[in-house]
Amino acid sequence: MKRLYTFFMAAALCLSSNAATPINVVNGISQELAVSRAAIVGNITYDLTFNIPASKTEAVKGNATITFIYKGGKTDLQLDFQGAPSQFDGLCVVNGKQIAVAWQDEHILIPRKSLRRGKNIISMSFISGDKSLNRNADYLYTLFVPEHARSVFPCFDQPDLKALFRTRLNVPEGWETITSVSTERIPTYLFSFVAGKFSKQTQERNGRTFTALYRETDAKKVAQLDTVFDIADHSIRWFEDYTGIKYPFSSYGFVVLPGYQFGGMEHPGAIQFTDHEIFLGEHPTPEELQTRVELIAHETAHCWFGDDVTMRWFNDVWTKEVFANFLTSKIAKQLFPDVNHDLNFLRMYQTRALSTDRT
Ligand SMILES: [Zn+2]
Repeated sequence: MKRLYTFFMAAALCLSSNAATPINVVNGISQELAVSRAAIVGNITYDLTFNIPASKTEAVKGNATITFIYKGGKTDLQLDFQGAPSQFDGLCVVNGKQIAVAWQDEHILIPRKSLRRGKNIISMSFISGDKSLNRNADYLYTLFVPEHARSVFPCFDQPDLKALFRTRLNVPEGWETITSVSTERIPTYLFSFVAGKFSKQTQERNGRTFTALYRETDAKKVAQLDTVFDIADHSIRWFEDYTGIKYPFSSYGFVVLPGYQFGGMEHPGAIQFTDHEIFLGEHPTPEELQTRVELIAHETAHCWFGDDVTMRWFNDVWTKEVFANFLTSKIAKQLFPDVNHDLNFLRMYQTRALSTDRT
């Protein structure tokens, strides 16, 4: 992600440090809850259906089937679901039996005695909260980083519980959709779906298929997608060469969003970009051209740094950002040889680094 550092730092600083056994049920996901869950839950698959209505005032409803391996625990299992009051009916099917469960402080409490060691299957219907759905008149997009997936569906909303996501979106006729990858394990903060009235382009580069969804209608701007696909392809091949690791995911797609709140976000298979850094004016400045390369390369770098290799907890989120920026600067240096990159580095980072250092 570009430009979310303060947000993450705030999240990291809010961690509760008074661990209790058993883990208390409180709002949010404490590091203690995350650590205790990672020890007993694994191999997660989410089968998710979302029914998305045409009207943004009508609720998004869904069904979740969560399959996981459970190693046993001393207390009821906390499944994260935030929603809003009355958005969950308190019924779950756990291993074939329908039971009533408590929904308390943003967690669905799955009774310990309903679970068994080994494979468990929990399913339920739910109504999504709107806060991370970014709903517009004829489209929506999810943005769950760092732990907002639980506002939309029940899940284990922590970065080290990676899962397979199989997603079915029921959408109004004529709407396009894109979801993050379904064949590789990713954390909940990297899961995403987008649905709405979008134009779609698919292009091939070096044997790989690239997909773009966009709402831009200016033909001259849309024609810039050729360049965007070129930059994405160049970045992928550069990172493959540099790391010696093949592109880790089965697809590369992105959506260009008007008025997007950040520069981009690295959901694998469904990267989100802000439109004004992708579709440039008729006479872009050298800075705009370089910023576009850096944005695409940065989000592509995350496919290795952050998406494939993920921090265990958000106190290490800086590592993926630093690796993404560091390697992106190498690409920019090669593609823009006339720019004084060292001077730019001094201007952009040195002073800030030193003033942080003084603290
Ligand atoms: Zn980033």
